[in-house]
Amino acid sequence: MKILVTAKRVEDPESKIKVKPDGSGIVQEGLKYKINPFDEIGVEEGLRLVAKHGGEVVVVSIGGKEVQEQLRHALAMGATRAVWVNHTGPLDQMGVAGLLQKVAEKEKPDLVILGKQAIDDDQNQVGQYLAEFLGWGQATFASKVESLESEQEKNKVPALQMGADNKSVRVVREVDNGLATLECALPAVVTTDLRLNLPRYASLPGIMKAKSKPIEELTPAKLSVDVTPKVQVLKMASPPPRKAGIKVPDVATLVEKLRNEAKVV
Ligand SMILES: Cc1cc2nc3c(=O)[nH]c(=O)nc-3n(C[C@H](O)[C@H](O)[C@H](O)COP(=O)(O)OP(=O)(O)OC[C@H]3O[C@@H](n4cnc5c(N)ncnc54)[C@H](O)[C@@H]3O)c2cc1C
Repeated sequence: MKILVTAKRVEDPESKIKVKPDGSGIVQEGLKYKINPFDEIGVEEGLRLVAKHGGEVVVVSIGGKEVQEQLRHALAMGATRAVWVNHTGPLDQMGVAGLLQKVAEKEKPDLVILGKQAIDDDQNQVGQYLAEFLGWGQATFASKVESLESEQEKNKVPALQMGADNKSVRVVREVDNGLATLECALPAVVTTDLRLNLPRYASLPGIMKAKSKPIEELTPAKLSVDVTPKVQVLKMASPPPRKAGIKVPDVATLVEKLRNEAKVV
């Protein structure tokens, strides 16, 4: 089984994000970067499926040379090889999906696993566009509250389960008010939610090995994809600052203030 996973480079969610005074974007200086947390969950899920069914995990990232850092991270976790689409200009979600479509057509994976959203743009679109462009089924927000720490937990039915004939995948999805289970014919596109799994740490031997794993370089031109954005960000602005709060000495004062000042109870 071949699983294609994505690894977007995003600002570390622990970083303090500042908007540039002219509203043209965010200040990049001093920021740390990492693999999008939902993508890391996707890499982990791919590795778990391959451990069970055999095959390989191939990781893809789009961006400048710096995204190789995130590819190496996924390789250190256990992915076999990487595809780097070298592109530095602006890119919207359709552009990303268009490039991923061509990579998927080239790689012919059984499954593509992406994060449900990237924490920088917060769009939650790429997986869905990709499934549409490829004409494949999709299962978004794959999730299940489970941990694989205990023996009992390990015996639970996982959120992503391959059909016995390896022609379908059963996916538990997180939806409003609960979980929905659906079955998709393979090849398919799955996007991960936060509760799907707990990604492993890259081990030191894994990090060493990752250095010699291959990274194939492609470009939008080589893939014949026109990535001219259809959507343009016009302006960014900081959210309005919140008024300073107060500390109350006890519960009675809190209730009194909520009732008489805030008028919310
Ligand atoms: C990159 C990223 C993406 C995520 N995406 C999702 C997602 O898509 N869906 C999802 O469900 N979750 C998501 N989460 C997780 C979600 O943000 C956290 O799980 C959730 O906020 C944790 O809530 P908490 O109450 O445990 O803690 P906190 O996030 O620390 O607190 C939540 C709220 O409680 C307040 N609070 C905290 N401590 C106190 C205190 N001592 N006294 C008074 N108020 C307090 C905070 O001010 C805050 O408003 C994401 C997290 C990350 C890092």
